[in-house]
Amino acid sequence: MRKAEWTDRQHLPLDIPKNLASKTYFFDKKGSSKRARHAAARAAACVREVAEPRAVRRLVRVVPGYPYCFLDDLRFPVRSRLISGVLSQCDTAVVCAVSLGEQLDEVLRDPSLSAHDQWVFDQVATAAVEAVMDKLEAEITTGLQRGYDAGRALTARYSPGYCDWPLTEQRLMFALLRPEKIGLTLSESYLMQPQKSVTAVMGIGDAARVAKHGIACRRCDRPRCPFRRRAYDSDQSPARNQGREAKR
Ligand code: SF4
Repeated sequence: MRKAEWTDRQHLPLDIPKNLASKTYFFDKKGSSKRARHAAARAAACVREVAEPRAVRRLVRVVPGYPYCFLDDLRFPVRSRLISGVLSQCDTAVVCAVSLGEQLDEVLRDPSLSAHDQWVFDQVATAAVEAVMDKLEAEITTGLQRGYDAGRALTARYSPGYCDWPLTEQRLMFALLRPEKIGLTLSESYLMQPQKSVTAVMGIGDAARVAKHGIACRRCDRPRCPFRRRAYDSDQSPARNQGREAKR
């Protein structure tokens, strides 16, 4: 991947996956009703027709720090100890936003849909925007494997509102990305419009370091988190690493 492709802000039209309905649990024949499966299939067909996926991404420098690291420069702290701990292992991060467009929001608000179908539709549209972000992430990973950055890897993906990163930090993502150019705006209550949009940050660093430190769950001792991806490792806890990180 050429360096210019990384540094430019871009609009990236991305396809909705064909197997979208099967990505929702409504499509699981054992665990869902026939009505829900049909509603999910209809919703998936509609999302594929109506959504206008757009993405913008930007490559930024990571300035390590404790408790918070910074993106781009010291004006942009990542106000999450857990995610700062992951990003501080990297020298670079990719910040990105994906949106499915205004037209899909209008369909989601369609008053002729029953409450049940509206809910199923909403779930399918959420699966769609995550699938588009997955695709963008896969594209970046492939670029790393094939391009000038071989031997480096991506950390897990994090968004404001998850782990200990407050939703208010969408301000940071908007300041770095200026995603208004793909039609994405932020309300005073930090909700994005269009509704089916996501922002994310992933660190890029040495593959061995990323394999060891690239998932915040290893540093997080919350016992009942339903989103946990890896077991807690007390050796990676932020308190234990405070001294090491401050010296970096
Ligand atoms: S356990 Fe949960 S809160 Fe903690 S880092 Fe993992 S996903 Fe985030």
